[in-house]
Amino acid sequence: MTQTIFMVGARGAGKTTIGKALAQALGYRFIDTDSFMQQSLQMTVADVVAREGWDGFRLRESMALQTVTAPKTVVATGGGAVLARENRTFMRNHGLVLYLRASANVLVERLTEEPEDAQRPSLTGKPIVDEIRDVLASREALYQEAAHHVLDATLPPKHVIELILQVLANETVK
Ligand code: ADP
Ligand code: MG
Repeated sequence: MTQTIFMVGARGAGKTTIGKALAQALGYRFIDTDSFMQQSLQMTVADVVAREGWDGFRLRESMALQTVTAPKTVVATGGGAVLARENRTFMRNHGLVLYLRASANVLVERLTEEPEDAQRPSLTGKPIVDEIRDVLASREALYQEAAHHVLDATLPPKHVIELILQVLANETVK
């Protein structure tokens, strides 16, 4: 199992947290496409969106996704990476895609605990709770379509990682 592992799921699902711990457990590199973009562009996600709109951000996100894809790498993607068919196909063809699935309630709880400056700009201008519910509903099918495996991301991180390691063990014997 030397492919790239892609973590997909909504903002707050644990792509960064679980991805990092998983990479450590496997001795893989960890890359977060959001952090990668911020470092290479010297701009925050909010800056990119303000300057180039969400379309500009999405274009850069697709490029970043392809740039960071390498063997023995865990890639934490942005919550909206699955919106582009190109990204869904790319991830499925270049590695193993894991969907960290959590309810809107759990996501809201986690995100409201984060400092304000760590949060992304609102996509729609609605209250965060409503927005997350809408975003989840509109993306659920895309996450499912992109993913090879769906994980319950509401379990404790240790447990989620154990489940992923079991999935990987099964993949290698296939
Ligand atoms: P993402 O990268 O998907 O946006 P993060 O990894 O940044 O999500 O996690 C968002 C917040 O939720 C963080 O505060 C993190 O510590 C917490 N978190 C992530 N996964 C879990 C989990 N399985 N159980 C409890 N809290 C979690
Ligand atoms: Mg993240």
